[in-house]
Amino acid sequence: MVGHPRERQMQIEDNAVVTFHYTLTNDQGELIESSKESSALAYIHGNGSIISGLEAELEGRQTGDKFNVRLEPDDAYGERSDELVQTMPRSAFVDADDLDVGMAFRALSDDGETIVHVISIEGDQVTVDGNHPLAGQALTFDVEVEDVRQATDEELSHGHVHGPHGAHE
Ligand code: ZN
Repeated sequence: MVGHPRERQMQIEDNAVVTFHYTLTNDQGELIESSKESSALAYIHGNGSIISGLEAELEGRQTGDKFNVRLEPDDAYGERSDELVQTMPRSAFVDADDLDVGMAFRALSDDGETIVHVISIEGDQVTVDGNHPLAGQALTFDVEVEDVRQATDEELSHGHVHGPHGAHE
């Protein structure tokens, strides 16, 4: 006698839509971000839309899997680069009178558009930092896979996820 085969769960592979919860901490044990404060993250596996080290760890997992991974900066947001710290005159900013430390601006660079943060203001000199705020840090992710399914043709052609956790809500 052969019973019904157990329904096989889909494993995470290229073009799978993966929905997962994560909690992100640094080496000091400080909480940086948790999806549980907002909603689970959904992405299309294999197209580089999440950081490389995390995408590699998710490969082959399935719904219900939980894991913990510590990523070196190279597998996360990269090392910090001093070249991305620049000092410029206040007049280079459109809203020169409203500048404050911590403000973020879009800036054009050789790599396209980036976000820079004002890190200091001394008189007329404004210093901005174009490093990702998490660059140079090892990051630990606690992950729980919520759902794995095949992407639709429409999602693949758009390059992003549709539905409750996706675009066009
Ligand atoms: Zn779309």
